[in-house]
Amino acid sequence: MPDSATDFTTLPGYREMQTQRSFAEMFGIENPFFRVHEERAGAETRIGNRTYANFASYDYLGLNGHPEVSAAAKAAIDRYGTSTSASRVVAGERPIHGELERALASLYSAQDCVVMVSGHATNVGVIGQIIGSRDIVLYDDLIHNSVALGAQLSGATRRSFPHNDLDALEALLDAQRHQHGRALIVVEGLYSMDGDWPDLPRLIEIKRRHGAWLMVDDAHGLGVLGARGHGVAEQTGIDPRDVDIWMGTLSKTLAGAGGYVAGPSPLIDFIRTSVGAFVFSVGLSPPVAAAAHAALGILLREPERVTKLHANGGAFLAAAKRHGLDVGTSAGLAITPVIVGESLKAATLSDRLSQRGFNVMPILHPAVPERLARLRFFITSEHTIEQVEEAAQATAEEMASLVGTADALQSMAAQLKT
Ligand code: PMP
Repeated sequence: MPDSATDFTTLPGYREMQTQRSFAEMFGIENPFFRVHEERAGAETRIGNRTYANFASYDYLGLNGHPEVSAAAKAAIDRYGTSTSASRVVAGERPIHGELERALASLYSAQDCVVMVSGHATNVGVIGQIIGSRDIVLYDDLIHNSVALGAQLSGATRRSFPHNDLDALEALLDAQRHQHGRALIVVEGLYSMDGDWPDLPRLIEIKRRHGAWLMVDDAHGLGVLGARGHGVAEQTGIDPRDVDIWMGTLSKTLAGAGGYVAGPSPLIDFIRTSVGAFVFSVGLSPPVAAAAHAALGILLREPERVTKLHANGGAFLAAAKRHGLDVGTSAGLAITPVIVGESLKAATLSDRLSQRGFNVMPILHPAVPERLARLRFFITSEHTIEQVEEAAQATAEEMASLVGTADALQSMAAQLKT
């Protein structure tokens, strides 16, 4: 066998990553990824002994580190320790698992709910197992990687449709639904790259007409969408029971880590007994379950946090538009991209903003198509209106100063590639 068979540097994407790194070094751009945050990262964060206005946190309602959330986690540690030790099937339940699951089920008016240690593994595991090779799975082009991987694992026929284009979804179903046993449609509640949401009433009508299941990953919608932050069901005014499978994560608004599925009892029973990501994986760590449960309680009790988030998100969107920035289809609730159009430009802009005290991540190719490279701003209820307006203004100023420089960088990069 050639040496390359055991050479890790021949793995797909390795060389592209190296090339990106050397470009960044060559152009003096500091690596924006894997930064070490020295304290809790909220509306502000400390990196390398400097305080930044932070636009890279999923803590939409500022619940991470909330005294009640931390106290619940500490009490759970005192009572159960930090681990559930093995799968809940064999190591057994802790009361906090059931408490969290009942609270989440009630949020979706669902019969039952199950939580797992990872949001990503929840999608891969559940989608991978509820459909099979005779079935079809249809999902939005911008769907999260975990859904796409689950679909791949299932062996079902996979079809994606252009972002939020339900006419295209209908056309696919008209042409192909009859060739398959089951059909699963998967969409997100709030799209984490673009900050918009799908037309759920129409999706419900479509899935009924075509005899399909509808699954909604509301990872980013919880705490953000709807006047009370209950998610995309509240935002679009539908009865949550009209969605077959609700998926979400504990890692964003709920200040923990893990995934959940809420829905009809037979589905949740099936997951508890048959899905490898639950059966063969450790039960959620008790302090994490307790933190998420406490965070959910605060979300339900204090809708004013959501009001504040919406005001901040709206102020950022308005300021960005006023400065002529391209914010795509963002509704301006918590996630707003600033589309700049080339990876190098996005990385340079992020670096310049970092020098000015703003922490905002660039999203580069291949995470998005090259022409849609962007900065992605996550707004939280803890930001001030001044912070978000200053960030929009600084971005516009740096964008303006990049015209010319970026073109020069781009042509240098193109020459280096050849
Ligand atoms: N679904 C969506 C829409 C996500 O954005 C993410 C990750 N951010 C996941 C699932 C995976 O969740 P986790 O990071 O909690 O594993």
